[in-house]
This record gives sequence, C-alpha cells and structure tokens, in this order.
Amino acid sequence: MNSLSTALPPALSHGARAVERCDVLGRAPYSDMENGLYRAWLTPAHKAALETLRGWMADAGMAVRMDPMGNLVGRYEGSQADLPPLMIASHIDSVRDAGFYDGPLGVMLGVECVAALHQAGRRLPFPIEVVAFGDEEGSRFPAAMLTSRAMAGTLDEAALEMADARGVTLAEAMAEFGLDIARWREAKLARTPLAYMEAHIEQGPVLEAQGLALGTVTGIAAQLRYQITVLGKAGHAGTCAMGLRQDALTAAAEMVLAVEEIARADASDLVATVGRMAVLPGAANVIPGETVFTLDVRSGDEARRDRAAGAILARIRDLAKARGLGVGIEKIHNLPASPCAPDLMDLMDAGIAATGQEPFRLVSGAGHDAMVLEAICPTAMLFIRCRGGISHNPAEHVEVPDVEAAFAAMIHFIENLGAKYG
Ligand SMILES: [Zn+2]
Repeated sequence: MNSLSTALPPALSHGARAVERCDVLGRAPYSDMENGLYRAWLTPAHKAALETLRGWMADAGMAVRMDPMGNLVGRYEGSQADLPPLMIASHIDSVRDAGFYDGPLGVMLGVECVAALHQAGRRLPFPIEVVAFGDEEGSRFPAAMLTSRAMAGTLDEAALEMADARGVTLAEAMAEFGLDIARWREAKLARTPLAYMEAHIEQGPVLEAQGLALGTVTGIAAQLRYQITVLGKAGHAGTCAMGLRQDALTAAAEMVLAVEEIARADASDLVATVGRMAVLPGAANVIPGETVFTLDVRSGDEARRDRAAGAILARIRDLAKARGLGVGIEKIHNLPASPCAPDLMDLMDAGIAATGQEPFRLVSGAGHDAMVLEAICPTAMLFIRCRGGISHNPAEHVEVPDVEAAFAAMIHFIENLGAKYG
C-alpha cells in the first residue's frame, strides 16, 4: 500500500500532499459506499485507510503501532528520553456521504509535520505521536469518541456493550478487524501527553466571513439542551373566536423569536437554536393545543451560556403566562465547556502570526476528540477555513494555500513548544 505515497510527485508541498492524501482516502477502497465517502469505525474501509496511513507514517520517519481500539499511532522519538509525547491527532472515520477533510486533514497535517522534521534531521526534546482516532463521528455504533476515551482512560466498560444497526456486536466487529475486545484497557496511554494538538476544518462560516485562513480555538463550547412543552387548548379552527383561543403554536412562535433576539443581543460566541418542533394535534382545521420544541444553547463560556439560557427560559415562562398557557421545561443534557490551554493558545497565535496572518480566536461549536483529551492534558486546536462553512457533505472543500499555512503554523507551534523544553 506504500506505493501510493511514492506515486505522488516529490515536488508536492506539505499542504498539497496533505490535501491530496485526504482525496485519495475519499475513494475506494477507503470508502464503504458507492459514489461517496463512508468510512465508519472497524469497517473494511477503515482497515484499508489504516494500512495506507501506516505506510505514510513510516515514510515520514515514524514507528507505527495499532492500539487495541484500532487507533493508529505513529511515533517520532525526541532527543530527551524522559519527556512525555506531544500528541497530534484527529479522526480517520467519517459520517455517511461525508466530505474528505473532516478528521483526516488533521491526521495528514500531523504526518506532514513529522515528515518535514525528519527530512531536516530535526528532533524535538519530546517525542511526537501522530494519532488517527477510530470513531469520533459515532456513525456505526450508537456512541462516539470511544477510542479517544479508551486512550484517555475515561471510557466506561458498559459503553462497549452495543451493536451496530445490523446487529453486529462491538466484540464481533473488533474480532473481524483483528482486535480483541478483552484487551481494550491496554489502549490507555502509558504516559499522559505533554500536550495535545488537533488541526481541523472549522465546519462553520466564521473564518471565511473574516477573510482568514486560520484560527486559534479557545475551547469547545459548553452545550445545554432543553425540551420545552407549551400547553394550550385545542379547538375548532372555524368556530373558536380569536380572542378566546389558547393557541400553543402562536405562543411557541413568539418564544422562538425571543430565543433569537436574546442570543443576537449577546455579541459574543453565544448561539441558541430551536431545531425541532412538533405541533399537536397537527391538523389544518384544529387550533394547536400543544407544541413541543428543542432549545440548544452553546458558548465557550459556561457562565455566559447559563446566563443566556436563564434569560431565555424566563422569557418563555413570561410569554406563556401572558397568554394564559402552561409551559413545561425539561433539561435534556448539559455538556461542560472544554477550554484549550491559555499558554498553548498563545503558541498557536504565534504560529499563525508567523504565516503572516493576524491571529484570530474562535470557539468550536462542534465536539472533537480534543474535548476527551482535555480531561488529562493541556489541549490546543487550530481551525482551517472551509468553503461556505460546509461540512458533513461531499461539497466540503479546503484551499491548498490555507492548508499550507496550517502546516507552517503547526511547525512553528511545535518548534516554540520545543524551545520551552530545550
Ligand atoms: Zn471531525
């Protein structure tokens, strides 16, 4: 499988080769669907991708191993034997009908960084481990980020008792892949990384709107989700006078607009969304008696998120009261923020500045493996502009010069981190 790397023109820049390799992995045999990319954890496509990636890592000067969860780890030794590694990682799995860059680009950039250091005969004080995580997306089994959680030592064994949509248990899928589920605990890292760094496409429109290629991620947003039930009174659409109605949908409409108004008034990273709504009984000639909708509130700052959610819920209660309707509020989940390490953000800013771009910081509204590693070590993330903010879609696109800039920023980051230990 090594021939793919040697078939690439040697003059290809590191950024161009990272993109080219993501494109290679977007096609058969690295996809399990026709006319598109679908590469789920522990599938033949996943296995094929790891075999090819193993060759690329080895070519870049790394010693390669697969851990008991199917994470592929390439290790480039440092000059000081006693230091824990800098981990540079992202995921190699995808959603169904995916784009080519969500995940693999971060892995390929890690490989390029080591390849460049190796070519230059350069060793950092610490080892570098480039990791391709197996299941960030959770597109096969009903759980996500299991392989990074196993590495971090935060995985609960009960999470392993599950099956995919075809009824294949995780133990069976792992056995077919050549892994023994009984050894899953051995995936736990022998040493806590010195730091964790992940480059990823932004999957949003902020960098593009700013006209910037790169951004330093401040953290992964804290997320609150509620289910709100508005209770009115169903009635005949023809006979019930307007002044006598208790319409649960018109009340909900006011509430949705209030959500938008409150979130917009906060000119920070705060976002609030009503993404689903059910109207009951749901007939053209019946006044809605009940409306159920979701509310999702996120911010990199938990206190800001909680203040906004509090203000939104207070307004929802007031609006229901003003119309004489009942309202039920149920918290569905509460994910804490996972902040990136301030000193590593400064290093990332410096790396971006070295490429000639003004540093820019933004929060990640989406989850990443970095939030799992944040439990055990300082983390950093670099976002790369993607066209239209489009992701989880075959139209996902990055520009090679942006990826080239990301590579340069990462090399500066690594060198500056190395200088702290040199
Ligand atoms: Zn991703």
